[in-house]
Amino acid sequence: MVVLTGGVGGAKLVLGLAAMLPPGDVTAIVNTGDDFHHLGLSISPDIDTLLYTLAGKANREQGWGRDDESWTFMAALAELGGPSWFRLGDGDLALHVVRTAALAAGATLSAVTVDVARRWGITTQVVPMSDDAVATEVLTAAGTLPFQRYFVERRCEPVATGVVFRGAADARPAPGVVAAITAADTRAVVIAPSNPYLSVDPLLAVPGIRAALSAATAPVVAVSPIVDGRAVKGPTAKLMREFGFAVDERTIADHYAGVIDGLLVDARAPAADFGVASAAVDTLMNDLDDKIRVAHAVLALADGLRR
Ligand code: GDP
Repeated sequence: MVVLTGGVGGAKLVLGLAAMLPPGDVTAIVNTGDDFHHLGLSISPDIDTLLYTLAGKANREQGWGRDDESWTFMAALAELGGPSWFRLGDGDLALHVVRTAALAAGATLSAVTVDVARRWGITTQVVPMSDDAVATEVLTAAGTLPFQRYFVERRCEPVATGVVFRGAADARPAPGVVAAITAADTRAVVIAPSNPYLSVDPLLAVPGIRAALSAATAPVVAVSPIVDGRAVKGPTAKLMREFGFAVDERTIADHYAGVIDGLLVDARAPAADFGVASAAVDTLMNDLDDKIRVAHAVLALADGLRR
């Protein structure tokens, strides 16, 4: 199983698939458009969310970062007049420091990620979409904002008119990405219920990934991030409205038209023709049973499809 994923929404599905399949059978290909440099550190928020979630270290209440976190660094930073808009817990900081040092010494992001996953006993393969830099920028009424300035500092408040992925056209898929998508024994490629515009589109903007999806023999199936007419979290629904779309499953199906063979929607969605095969299940994933339910449903939908 291959999953194209952003952070929190996608990590839930990856965890469900990993729980129901043999160790090592899931490859998560992760958005790196959110990656940025801050205080001299190389930060990869979606990769970190996957790593923390799969290692059982994610802070579930907060929705980002590590659990059992302490904040001595941020307090000391504030005393020194340092920036406080992006919060870095003490334990989280260690991951960024280790990654930054390894990258500075010549390692690739994919190699650093493999090393962290191994140390934390993660059997799911966590692969960045690219080792080349891709930077998501949001075009807004307040000007063009680098992703984290829009998402964290401005809390997604500025009205968005578009999104660009700087560097994507020249970015190569990271080692293993194309092979995982196109492998003859890949059962399905799943687009996670992640933010289509901010988390999945950067992946699709890497030409080699889009070509691999076309060439794949496995069915490509998306899980809708819309539940009961709303996004479970984050700016997905707000962006849909700002881009002039209805907040519904049809908009998701249209967005992925030509890429997907099937769409798994939430059972609360009104019946509709999505232009591709579809199935419905309760897709709200709170506990592990919920995640496994959605994982089963997406596999069942994919197994019924042929390319
Ligand atoms: P981020 O990178 O951390 O913002 O996370 P993602 O892009 O992976 O996920 C954000 C999307 O996940 C939002 O559009 C949510 O609607 C969706 N999402 C979060 N939890 C769930 C869930 O339990 N079920 C479904 N169907 N979607 C969810």
